[in-house]
Amino acid sequence: MRSDAMLEVQNLKMHFPVYGGFFRRVVGHVKAVDGVNLFICPGETLGLVGESGCGKTTTGRCIIRAYKPLDGQILYRRADGSVVDLAPLDDQSLRPYHREIRLIFQDPYSSLNPRMPVVDLVGEPLKVNKIATGKELEDRVAELLRRVGLRPEYMKRYPHAFSGGERQRIGIARALSLNPRLVICDEAVSALDVSVRAQILNLLEDLQAEFNLTYLFIAHDLSVVEYICDRVAVMYVGKLVELASTDELFAQPQHPYTEALLSAVPQPDPLIRDQKQRIVLGGEVPDPANPPSGCYFHPRCRYSDGARCMNETPALRETTPLHFVACHYAEKLSLRGVIAPRILA
Ligand code: SF4
Repeated sequence: MRSDAMLEVQNLKMHFPVYGGFFRRVVGHVKAVDGVNLFICPGETLGLVGESGCGKTTTGRCIIRAYKPLDGQILYRRADGSVVDLAPLDDQSLRPYHREIRLIFQDPYSSLNPRMPVVDLVGEPLKVNKIATGKELEDRVAELLRRVGLRPEYMKRYPHAFSGGERQRIGIARALSLNPRLVICDEAVSALDVSVRAQILNLLEDLQAEFNLTYLFIAHDLSVVEYICDRVAVMYVGKLVELASTDELFAQPQHPYTEALLSAVPQPDPLIRDQKQRIVLGGEVPDPANPPSGCYFHPRCRYSDGARCMNETPALRETTPLHFVACHYAEKLSLRGVIAPRILA
């Protein structure tokens, strides 16, 4: 494991069976995550982006061990420096890590039980882990609500009494209740209006600084990722195709898929917007149950050589320091990035 990493995922695989025929036999597998390697350093925010169905949410679910991966390692460094592989652990052994690695869900409407008041929603992890009950629990919930910008006197109310942004703040308070070290934000702002989105992103940044949190930020919106992430990992059909610092990835992408994603980022500056040309990818996103041969991106790649690209799977390799790319021709291509303004569009 890298000495600077808090979490390192090595060759992570998660395949789901596909059933068919009269006897509902297994007729194939959806390769939702197909050999992902990434690492997250303490205190940083790593963005994980890609189109819907690319495997980014499944990767997050494997890391919190909602799924047991088919293969690979999830190496996690604890506060005392010891390293544990979370991948093979059973439910009992995972319990302490469930306190340290928490999830913030995408949808603040469906992720909160409508029959539970806020005090129970936020306080449940404290109760389940026998950390606090009664008055002490209420005091801790009040403090958590204050910290996420909600009034503690609202703790007896039910989720329907809150707006989408307020519900997401409740979800964040719940995630923070056990003092986690690593928080996985799964499309945490995707369901929110743009103005509320910026408030929640700012709150996440403030909480990160205050509690020394590390984030894995799963999103499909690159302008959100640019706003909050230190580094970005790009996924395509279950594989990581590029991983670099946010500034470098936006300014000098080295993978054709990243270039195409960046060309669709909205540009608020009309001068830059006029010069920009959107790259429209041909064809459909491949079926992860039946991916193309060689480079999975080759049927849609305008730089494909038609031979090596079709037959040889490119490995993720470090082309420049801390810039990892899975493309045979990364060093030869001259791809267009964007000048990324740090505002949400
Ligand atoms: Fe395109 Fe070939 Fe690079 Fe794949 S390996 S991204 S097909 S140039």
